[in-house]
Amino acid sequence: MSVNHLRDLLHALDGQSYKAYKSLRGSHSLADFTLHIDYVQGDPFAAPSRVRVEVPQAIAQFPSSLYDSSPRRIALEDYLIRQFDRQIQTVGRATGSGKSGLIEIVRPSQAILPRSAAHISEQMVELRLAVGLPAFGRRIAGRQAAILLCEQLPELIDQTLFYAQLDAAALQAHCDCAEAADYLRHQLRDRCLVAFIADGAVLPRQSGVDDRPLRQDAVPFQSPPSLQTSLRLPDGAMVTGLGIPQGVTLIVGGGYHGKSTLLRAIEAGVYNHIPGDGRERVVTDAAAMKVRAEDGRSVVGVNISPFINHLPQGRSTVQFSTQDASGSTSQAASIIEAVEAGAAVLLIDEDTSATNFMIRDRRMQELITKAQEPITPFVDKVRQLYTDHGVSTILVMGGSGDYFDVADTVIALDNYRPEEVTAQARAIARADQNNRQAEGGATFGDISLRVVAPDSIDARKGKRAVNLKTRTTDEIRLGLHEIDLSAVEQLVEPGQLKAIAAAMVYAQQYYFDGQRSLTAALDRVLGDIATHGLDCLSDRLSGEFVGFRALELAAALNRLRTLVIDGSPNDHAPTAEHRGEDEA
Ligand code: ADP
Ligand code: MG
Repeated sequence: MSVNHLRDLLHALDGQSYKAYKSLRGSHSLADFTLHIDYVQGDPFAAPSRVRVEVPQAIAQFPSSLYDSSPRRIALEDYLIRQFDRQIQTVGRATGSGKSGLIEIVRPSQAILPRSAAHISEQMVELRLAVGLPAFGRRIAGRQAAILLCEQLPELIDQTLFYAQLDAAALQAHCDCAEAADYLRHQLRDRCLVAFIADGAVLPRQSGVDDRPLRQDAVPFQSPPSLQTSLRLPDGAMVTGLGIPQGVTLIVGGGYHGKSTLLRAIEAGVYNHIPGDGRERVVTDAAAMKVRAEDGRSVVGVNISPFINHLPQGRSTVQFSTQDASGSTSQAASIIEAVEAGAAVLLIDEDTSATNFMIRDRRMQELITKAQEPITPFVDKVRQLYTDHGVSTILVMGGSGDYFDVADTVIALDNYRPEEVTAQARAIARADQNNRQAEGGATFGDISLRVVAPDSIDARKGKRAVNLKTRTTDEIRLGLHEIDLSAVEQLVEPGQLKAIAAAMVYAQQYYFDGQRSLTAALDRVLGDIATHGLDCLSDRLSGEFVGFRALELAAALNRLRTLVIDGSPNDHAPTAEHRGEDEA
């Protein structure tokens, strides 16, 4: 079918009832591309229609050097989405009711992430979009539809999916930038580092709601000589910056001197960023997890006994559950859950921590004895977490010098400039003993794995088997249940929540079998995504999924108020006897 044919078809629909648009479903091969109309909206006000466009590489002609590695391919796809989104802004929107004339692609953040909205292979380049099929009232606006699908869309594709039309240098820089960040991140573990912040990086953002770089008056990052490290870039050049070593690191300094800004850049460093972001070469161990206090959250069956014990009324904390956690309990649970899900680094800011979880000073120890206080403060556990479980911590702590005793590295920020003050902090700790009793015991304690009860996840709503809703980076609606993710701070795009919601249903369907641990089940889910792509999460092809980590998927599950934990995997492991029978 030619463009003309589609135009005739749309003109013929003009004035008909909106339902007649359903006849468009299916694939239309137009001049340079194929238009797949996968879903046709029921009326002009409903969720928009979903379409895919595919251009054969024979026409698109992207050089394979732009997508011959995973970070480069993801960066190329990311670039195409951004390019398409930019071009949409230049197109006038057709008039009509409701969403008439809308053309929309998932909107990327500052991070370069895998997204189902774009897909490139040796054969094809594909974009997935939402379009609002035009109407006046409930009557099809056929001429407007023809302009949308036969003029505007081909024009947008022309400006986005044909290599020759793109800024080759910018595209190359985009792919190189992502690859370099990945390359730097991969060197961290060999160098016993948990994060690297390149000299010259711009960390502050425009505002709390605008993640673009602060342009005016931003002080570029400059590493202190004693912690300066050089890492290699893919082209062999070296880049210098601050290397934060494994172990326990404190970030100290006066209020407003840039501590939280540095930590937030480190949080974001689990992702690659676009050129011009300022954090292109700020990289963090991929398993670094921000944790914070979050009173009111639910906790299900978590062994928080390393931190909290001897609750009033003799309540056990080995499989602790609550629908309304306190600040300290929520922070304890979030730490244990993160480690259970594979976190190698914890990122904690005093601004968002529970004071009684972080510190308990000598005077308070005297007034309220250990026997009366269920909480063992983090200061007494943070070292054991590293020595016993290999989990490092980076902690912003301007308010308590008690942490000097347990820190390997102390970095002070002064007017946004970092200095290493480890020696001074140690000298102060020696000269001015705080005489605290360490309350942490001999070891950190076990991190217990949990098994999710197979029917924990119920995404049903009325007659609909699966009903998932997400609009922001704050909340997932799973059937009748809401999951509040506003405290899971490393989620940066709504599409990550959409994918996580689908992944929860997928995990339930395939991997929560009542025996496998939560962690093992989530690893399987992430493994499937790595092999088959985000599309494996859903029967219908979604253009809205964005990549996420097992850590955030675990965080979402852990906040599901209907979650049921069915003991630990050990309770379920076949006994030696059973195994013998199986083999026989
Ligand atoms: P702290 O946590 O030490 O109190 P913040 O990180 O919240 O400080 O930073 C305070 C303010 O300084 C913020 O508005 C932030 O955007 C700004 N800021 C942080 N780092 C820089 C920098 N390198 N250059 C300019 N402004 C910065
Ligand atoms: Mg702060």
